Amino acid sequence: PNSKAGDGKPRLMLMGQRRSGKSSISSVVFHKLPPSETLYLETTTRIKKQSMHSFMDFQVWDFPGHLDYFDPQFDVDNIFSEIGALIWVIDAQDEYLEAIGKLNETILNLQNTFPDINIEVFVHKVDGLSEDYKSDTFQDIIQRVQDELSDQGYENAPVSFYQTSIYDHSIFEAFSKVIQKLIPQLPTLESLLNSLCSNCRIEKAYLFDVLSKIYIATDTSPTDIGSYEICSDYIDVVVDVAEIYGWPDRPAQDEEAEGQQQEAGNNNAESLITMERKGNNYLYMREINQYLALICLMGDDSPADKKALIDYNVGVFEEAMAQVFPR
Ligand code: GDP
Repeated sequence: PNSKAGDGKPRLMLMGQRRSGKSSISSVVFHKLPPSETLYLETTTRIKKQSMHSFMDFQVWDFPGHLDYFDPQFDVDNIFSEIGALIWVIDAQDEYLEAIGKLNETILNLQNTFPDINIEVFVHKVDGLSEDYKSDTFQDIIQRVQDELSDQGYENAPVSFYQTSIYDHSIFEAFSKVIQKLIPQLPTLESLLNSLCSNCRIEKAYLFDVLSKIYIATDTSPTDIGSYEICSDYIDVVVDVAEIYGWPDRPAQDEEAEGQQQEAGNNNAESLITMERKGNNYLYMREINQYLALICLMGDDSPADKKALIDYNVGVFEEAMAQVFPR
């Protein structure tokens, strides 16, 4: 219900004041720009629609002080009727009272017009803050928004808060949570991943959007950021190689420099399958469709000769996925 446009992709919009970090976030997450290079980015101006090779669809909307976005020159209905989540970026290293004023105004307007849109507040650039200051700032922002909402009689507005930075994985983690709320099939995906894990003694399985490295689902065992990092780094290795060979006709992957790697018999010419040893772990990756890949992390007790079992179970998973997300 939240992906309202015809192609069924979850739609996100990024808003916030100038210099809050919107261009940086979209460049780091969707264009793999190294975070330090965002210093040289041009700031966002007005609306940028981005179409990209991703499971989700994404727009960045700048909201400089002088610009009233409820101004009739913007087709507000058209814009907001399409999105599932509005991500509001607040620079935690800067004065934020004005930003919160605008945010509150926006939330109240949306509650009247599009109450189904999730409002996701990224308290951003927390990397530069001390632990104490960081949590005080975070609590203060939450309090100011919630006070205003309850004053106006909106106790249950769909507003969530995250602490983010482009200098670590927090921005990917936050995006993952935002996206997961927009996927009606999430419980199905989670139970498919759970049974895959228990059938093959996999420790952790993620369904990644390959381009952004945002995970759209994982099994329901506790998530730790370490396994996310291992899996997300693995995508970089594999995708770099895949890019060398070009998209969309990816041939089976060539030998990788790192670790030992075996090629699988590949029934589906387009789907890439690899398994590799990484330190004390085994990593298994399989492309599921043009946007998504399954990545599994297994302990040392899962020797490579278990691969046939895994291939079989992943095949079952892939068939179930095709039902969930028809190609
Ligand atoms: P926009 O106007 O909202 O698009 O903001 P920009 O993306 O142009 O970012 C403004 C500045 O904030 C740039 O110099 C970025 O390098 C910096 N920036 C963005 N994200 C972060 C972050 O997570 N941490 C820190 N320390 N700086 C950031």
